[in-house]
Amino acid sequence: MKVAFIGLGHMGAPMSRNILAAGHDLVVHDVRPEAAAGLVADGAAWAASPREAGAGREAVITMLPGPPAVAEVLLGAGGLLAGMPAGSVWIDMSTSTPAVADRVRAEAGPRGIAVLDAPVSGMAAGAHDGTLQIFAGGDAATFAAARPLLAAMGDPERILHVGPHGAGYTVKLMINLLWFAHLTATAEVLTIGTRAGVDLGTLRRCLLASPAASHFLDDDVLSVLEHGDYDEGFALALACKDLGLAMDLARVTGVPVPVSATVEQVYRQALARYGETGGEMLPVKLLEDLTGSPLRLPAETCLPAETRPSAAPAPLGPAIPIDLTALPGLPAPFDMSAPPARRSVSAPQE
Ligand code: NAD
Repeated sequence: MKVAFIGLGHMGAPMSRNILAAGHDLVVHDVRPEAAAGLVADGAAWAASPREAGAGREAVITMLPGPPAVAEVLLGAGGLLAGMPAGSVWIDMSTSTPAVADRVRAEAGPRGIAVLDAPVSGMAAGAHDGTLQIFAGGDAATFAAARPLLAAMGDPERILHVGPHGAGYTVKLMINLLWFAHLTATAEVLTIGTRAGVDLGTLRRCLLASPAASHFLDDDVLSVLEHGDYDEGFALALACKDLGLAMDLARVTGVPVPVSATVEQVYRQALARYGETGGEMLPVKLLEDLTGSPLRLPAETCLPAETRPSAAPAPLGPAIPIDLTALPGLPAPFDMSAPPARRSVSAPQE
C-alpha cells in the first residue's frame, strides 16, 4: 500500500518503522527533518511538506502532538489535504479532539477522501513492539479497509472500532484521564501510608489484595518504585494537553468534574516545576519532593520487568505492627485503645 506518515516523534518514528517492515511503500514528513534520517536510510522517501507527503498516497497517517498541529498539517494551501487524491484515507492516530477532524471532514468528504480517528494506547514500548491498542472512530467500511495497515502497528486482538467519527478520540482521552487520576491518587495513598509507618512493599501488597487494587498499582507504578523512572517517553506537556482536552469534553457534555479538575491542576503544577519535557509520572515526584518522602522499594525486592509475576495480586506479607503515636510530628488519627470497628472486607472504600 502507498502510505505517508507525518509526525516522527517518540511514537510516530517506531510506528512508521513497523509500517516499513510490513512491506508498505512509505513516505515520511516531520517539521524536524532530522527525525526522518533513520527511516530514510532504511528505505522510506522524504517529503518536504505535508502536501507533498499526501500526493498519490492511498493512506496518510498523522501522529502529532495535538489539535493545533493537526490543523496546521491538514488544512491550508500547503496542507496535507490539498495533496491527497480522491479515494484515499486520512487516519489521525494523534490524541486529539473531534473539533479539528470535523473541519477536515467537511473539506475531505466532497473530495472523496475518507477520515478515521485512531488514537492509541501502549506507550513508546508498544509502538516499538507493534503491540499498540488502537481505538478507531469512523464508518465501518473505512475501518475495515484500514485494518490491515493498523495491524502493522497494533495488536490485532486490540484494534477496536469503537463508534462513529470522534469516538476513538473520546475513548483515548477517557483512558488517559482515568490513568492520570489513578497516578495522582496512588501517589497520595502510598505517601500517607508510608509516612504513617507502613512498609511501602507491605502497603502495596495489601492494596493489591483489596478492592482498591488497580493495574496502575500492580504494574505501572513500579517504574517509579523500583527505578525512580518517571517515563520521559510521554512528556508532561502531552499529559497536560490530554487533560485539557478531557476538561473541554466535560464542559461540552455538561458534566461537573471536580476530581478530574484537581488531577489536571496537579499535572500543571508538575509541569511548572519540572518542565514540559519531564515524564508523565512526575506528579509522584512532586509529592515526594513536597513531603521529603521518596517512594522506593528496596533494591533486593525489585524484579526485572520480564520476570515479574503475573497480574495476580501478591500474597500478603506478615502483618507489621504500626504504632502511629510513636511517629514524631504525627497526631494519632484515631483512638488506638478503642476496639476496631467491624468493617466489611469487600467494601470498595477500603
Ligand atoms: P512527540 O512530541 O515525541 O512527537 C510529535 C512529532 O510531531 C515530533 O517529531 C514533531 O517534530 C512533529 N510535529 C509537530 N508539529 C508538526 C507539524 N506542524 N508538522 C510536522 N510535524 C510536526 O510526541 P509523541 O510522544 O510521539 O506523541 C504523539 C501523539 O501520540 C500525541 O498526540 C500523544 O498524545 C499521543 N500518544 C503518545 C504516547 C506516548 O507514550 N508518547 C502514547 C499514546 C499516545
